[in-house]
Amino acid sequence: MGERTILVCDVCGRPAVQTVTIKVGRQNWTKDLCQTHVDELTSGARRPRPGRRRAVVAAEAAAPPRRRGRPPKSASAGGATGTRRRGRPRKSQTAGASSTDGQSGGSS
Ligand SMILES: [Zn+2]
Repeated sequence: MGERTILVCDVCGRPAVQTVTIKVGRQNWTKDLCQTHVDELTSGARRPRPGRRRAVVAAEAAAPPRRRGRPPKSASAGGATGTRRRGRPRKSQTAGASSTDGQSGGSS
């Protein structure tokens, strides 16, 4: 493995020191750059800060509660009846299929 690929700057053609990935819209672009053009690229760039969002979520939470004719008591009573679950898979169909799938794979 004596051969070595030498990267050259995609801008000026000099030996590149870094390969950068640029996001434009939803596409990624890769460029090999020399130190000069790496500096040139990053000089006007800034780092996005993760984890910080605008106050849009807080504004939504601060929305006024909608009033309806029913008192909160009836709502809690509805929650009690909501304990029964719907849409639970039956053993014969979904659960059995997944378990037998693993067994058949091992036997074969
Ligand atoms: Zn360059």
